[in-house]
Parts: sequence; C-alpha cells; structure tokens
Amino acid sequence: MESISSAKPVNGVVLTFDDGFKDHYRYVFPELLRRGLWGIFYIPTSPFVTGTLIDVHRVHLLIGAHGGDAIADAIDEIIDNDMLSHALIEEFQVETYRRQNNGATTNYVKRVLNYFIDYKYRRLVIDRLMSTFYPDERGMAQDFYMTKTEISYMAQHGMLLGSHTVNHPVMSKLMVEDQEKEIASSFEMIESITGVNSPRTFCYPYGGFHSFTAQTERLLERYSCLFSFNVEPRDIEKNDLENRRQALPRFDCNVFPFGSCRLVDDGGIHPRVAGQ
Ligand SMILES: [Zn+2]
Repeated sequence: MESISSAKPVNGVVLTFDDGFKDHYRYVFPELLRRGLWGIFYIPTSPFVTGTLIDVHRVHLLIGAHGGDAIADAIDEIIDNDMLSHALIEEFQVETYRRQNNGATTNYVKRVLNYFIDYKYRRLVIDRLMSTFYPDERGMAQDFYMTKTEISYMAQHGMLLGSHTVNHPVMSKLMVEDQEKEIASSFEMIESITGVNSPRTFCYPYGGFHSFTAQTERLLERYSCLFSFNVEPRDIEKNDLENRRQALPRFDCNVFPFGSCRLVDDGGIHPRVAGQ
C-alpha cells in the first residue's frame, strides 16, 4: 500500500484471487498464512443477495461438466440471431479469449454468452441452460463461494478484500448509471462484511482494456478506490502508479507455464488466479 501511496514500485509480487470461490478459503488462505504472506481477494457480491451462482460461473460449470460441444448445441437450440448484437460481435470478436487455450466450441460458448449476446437476453438463456443441466442449482452457491463469515475471518487475518462488482458484468457494456451501481453497492457490501477499514481496491471482471471505459475509471476515482487491476501482462511501473492507478497491469496466470486453468470433467472447476 505504501508503494501505491508513494508511487514507488517495489520489488515483489502481489497475489490476487478473483471471484470469491470457496477454494480460496479452503486452500489458498491457509497456504498464505503458513508462509506469512497476504493476498487480495476480489469478490463479486451478488451471490450474497440472490443465493445463486453468478452467470459467468454458471457458464464455467456448464462447459466444465458437460463439454463445449453439448452446450454449444443447447445454445443453438435456444437462441436465434436477433438475440445477438452485431455491434458487440464486431467489437469483441478479436479481443476475447486469445490467450486461453480453449477448444473451438468452448470459445464459441464463452464468446456468445459473455460478449455477443444482448444483455437483455443473457440471463434468460443461461437460466434455460441451467434448468436443463442443473435443475437443483439452488443451494450450490453455499458450497461454491466463501461465506460472509469466512471473508470476515480472512480480513481479520491480514487479507485484503476488494470489489469485483456485484454481478460480474463486462463493465464497458453497461450504461454509466449501471456501472456506478455495480461499484457502489459492491464496496458497500464488502465493507459491511469485513467491518475492516482497509483501502478500497477493485478489479475488472474479465479484464483487458476492452472490458471497461474511461468512465469506469473515473467512477472508481470518485468512489475513493485506491487502485484497480486490469489484466495486462507486464510489471507495474512508476508511471502506472503516478498516472493510471485504476488500470494497473496484472498477469493472468494462464500466461505462465503450468499456470493455465483447465476445466475438468468432474463437475467442478479449478479457480483462476486472475481474470477469466
Ligand atoms: Zn472474475
């Protein structure tokens, strides 16, 4: 934090863990404690309100458990072309999922559901997929995400908890008012859970410069966010700390050897360290 406030980069590594997965509490937190380390955990807050999985994780789960082919077929049955935004296809076709080593149908499913589909149809389509493949989705969230008590315990033990929005949207797809709601209410929820007066920090869902706008950065400044992470594979430099604290670069673990996150076929997913 000193490095941020004084705008002086230091030698070292900051470990960040996105999405509030239960595995972060079970496996990452004890390992950090054992080594006397700390990390930043970025939490999307909607599961605390809805009791259900957030849509991006529903998509992971569907692909992980059933494979890209089966889900791509199911999607083609549900959607028609009117539900896709051609402007969004053009905007996001090149920029998305270039670094991840996914199969073609997995990329198709992720692009359609996370980027190309008009947001007003997205929930509907994912709801339909979930009711087909997971008729008993309710109740899964408890085992999927950290509870409020667990998050609070981590905060008391030196971990930093940050906002990862409420619903994990692609922020650049939202009107500025909706971006503001995502930022304001997620900070409020995180702080009500931790009860700790620590600096505000944020990281962009999905990450990459296409996933947010200059307005998002200004909002984060306005909400007194000390710093935010983008995904951009390079070290943090002095210039970033001085001039662009709301888009600090961060490596996605997928770029490291042995760091890739593979979806597994046991019905679960391996959490990512950064971005998705
Ligand atoms: Zn995320």
